[in-house]
Amino acid sequence: MEKQLVFGHRSPDTDAIVAAIGLSYLENQLGKNTEAVALGEPTAETRFVLDYFGETMPRVITKAASEVATVMLVDHNERQQSVADIEQLKVSVVVDHHRLANFTSNQPLYYRAEPVGCTSTILWELFKELDIEVPAKLAGLLLSAIISDTLLLKSPTTTLIDRRALANLAIIAQVDPAFYGPKMLRAGTRVDTRSVHQILAADTKDFIMVGHPVKIANVNVVAEADIFKRQTAFEQEMQQEADTGYDLVILMVTNILIGQVELLVIGNQAKIVETAFNKKLRQNRMQLPNVVSRKKQIVPALMVAFKH
Ligand code: MN
Ligand code: MN
Repeated sequence: MEKQLVFGHRSPDTDAIVAAIGLSYLENQLGKNTEAVALGEPTAETRFVLDYFGETMPRVITKAASEVATVMLVDHNERQQSVADIEQLKVSVVVDHHRLANFTSNQPLYYRAEPVGCTSTILWELFKELDIEVPAKLAGLLLSAIISDTLLLKSPTTTLIDRRALANLAIIAQVDPAFYGPKMLRAGTRVDTRSVHQILAADTKDFIMVGHPVKIANVNVVAEADIFKRQTAFEQEMQQEADTGYDLVILMVTNILIGQVELLVIGNQAKIVETAFNKKLRQNRMQLPNVVSRKKQIVPALMVAFKH
C-alpha cells in the first residue's frame, strides 16, 4: 500500500508531534500505511513528554515529495507552516484546530477542524467515533498535548470537550494531570541554558496578515525576567529576523503560573500592536493580563488592527 507521511507544523510544539503520532497510529489501525514524522526538533517540553512515556522522537524531515506522494496534516493547515514542498504533495487528511487561511486542494479529502483547545482532543474524539482503543502510552502523549496547548485547561481556547478528553485519557494513562501537568509545563520553561536563537525558533509561527508577513514566537516561563534580562540580545535577533522580510516580529513571553503574556515587539509595523490592544509599547514591551493564546487572542486582534 502507498505510504503516507503524517506531520504537524514547523517548529513543532507537543501537540504537533503527538497528534502526528496519534493520527498515524489510528490510520494504521484502519489499514493504512503511515509514518509520523516531524518538521523540526522537539522542544524541551516535548522531550520531557516523550521520555516520560517512553516514546521515541519521530524522524525530522524538511521535504517529503522525494519519499511520498501523499501526506496527512495535523495541528496546522497554512502552507507557510507546513513542509517546504507542500505544493508538490497531495493532502489526504487534515485534523486541525486553527483558522483556515490559505488551504486549498485539488482532490476530495478528509478535513476535520474543530474550535477546540488541542488537535489531540479531536484525535481522542476520532478514536471514540471509530471505536478504536487508545493504548495507555498514546493516552499519556495525547493528554500531554492537551495540557500543553491549554496550559492545563487555563487557556481561553479550552472547551468542555478538552476537559472530557483530558479526564478520559488520564484514566487510560493512569496519570494525575494535577500532579503531572505542572511538572511537564515547567520542563518547557528552562530558558537559561538555551540561546536567544534557540528560544525564538522553538515555538514560532509565520502568518500573512492582510499582505503583511508576521512572525509570532512564544516561550513559556515562570518569571518574565528569565527572558527580559537578555532583552537586547532578543531584540537584535528579532531585528535580524525582521530584516529577512517580516513587517512584524513578536515574542510572546507567557507566564504559565499567572496566565498572562508580555510581548516583545520588533518591526516596521510595531504600532499595529498598540492599535490591536489599545495600549502603548514601552521599550518595545507590552504586558497583557489574561492573554495567553496566540491563536485566539493575539492573531485575531492583530488581524482586526491590520484591516483597519
Ligand atoms: Mn501546535
Ligand atoms: Mn495544537
